[in-house]
Amino acid sequence: MTIADRFAPARCPRLVVKIGSSLLIGPDGAPRRDWLATLVDDVAERRAAGQAVVLVSSGAIALGARTLNLPRGGRASLEDSQAAAACGQIALAGLWAALLAARGLTAAQMLLTLDDLEDRRRYLNAAATLDRLLGLGAVPVLNENDSVATAEIRFGDNDRLAARVAQAAGAAGVILLSDVDGLHTADPARDPAAALIEIVPVVDAAVERLAGAASTLGTGGMAAKLEAARLAARAGVDLAIASGREDHPLHRFAATGRGTLFPAAAGVSRRKAWLASRRTARGRVTVDAGAATALAKGGSLLAAGVTAVEGGFARGDVVEVLGPGGAVARGIAAYDVAEASRIAGHRHEAQAALLGYPPRSALIHRDQLVLL
Ligand code: GLU
Repeated sequence: MTIADRFAPARCPRLVVKIGSSLLIGPDGAPRRDWLATLVDDVAERRAAGQAVVLVSSGAIALGARTLNLPRGGRASLEDSQAAAACGQIALAGLWAALLAARGLTAAQMLLTLDDLEDRRRYLNAAATLDRLLGLGAVPVLNENDSVATAEIRFGDNDRLAARVAQAAGAAGVILLSDVDGLHTADPARDPAAALIEIVPVVDAAVERLAGAASTLGTGGMAAKLEAARLAARAGVDLAIASGREDHPLHRFAATGRGTLFPAAAGVSRRKAWLASRRTARGRVTVDAGAATALAKGGSLLAAGVTAVEGGFARGDVVEVLGPGGAVARGIAAYDVAEASRIAGHRHEAQAALLGYPPRSALIHRDQLVLL
């Protein structure tokens, strides 16, 4: 068994494949149509074998920059990259639609911002759309909605977007096609002794140091890929980095098993995975040492241990929980900020009088909470 078997149709009924700008666009700034056609052949082959495939495609900014004659690949300013993305995305969508149609497949475009996946309702909505598209046999082609996303609310790289999309699409695996074939023990461009690492069970500080040593092109580079791997693992999704330099990259990956696998963490619930992968919270709740210990042991967050409440959250919003040593958890608040402030520091028995109604069992129930 190779690492590629985990991404085979039998083990992975839904697969996300991310294609970076440097694979999509040639040195002349034009799309690499011939290579893309071989990738689409592979997608068609997987579809025929019963695997639903979602594509995460970069390249909008690079393509649009060329059309609009913008300097620095369209990345000189936020306005430039947004204009480039608007212009490039329409060409990119046309390209995918044509290539997929030539193999009898239907393309469906979705452009997402970070906000779309951070807000639980919008996340579930995007997930439902993806589900419906896959059920209808279409091939969703996703990218970040770069022409409206501002610097603060951008994913910024499609590696992380791919990991989040896998989660939303209920995919068991993500393959990041890259200009390198995986994570190496040293920079393969400079060190002939650099060896490919086949499996990375956990992305820890030592692994991050390796990424710093390796060089890749693209917005994200290896650091973004590791971040994506971490997100995917926590969401119960396998992630692989494999080479996209040759024709038929998916077929090749399946045949050779060459790449780096970041295996999914076992036993993750979907809601908790979504909570863990979020980057923003609507508020903060600070707790004392006793409450932090109770949380670490798997308990709910009780108002009695809360020392401060900040932010503008409503009931159902995600809030961050800070312990004496920093962020310890994230969870869905059972109260809004006003109610939470009123009962903060008070025991259950005292809460009814403060709220004017019988209190709920906790400020954040343990099923709605994830430790960081
Ligand atoms: N969304 C960007 C684009 O379409 C690419 C981001 C990335 O390079 O990962 O150009």
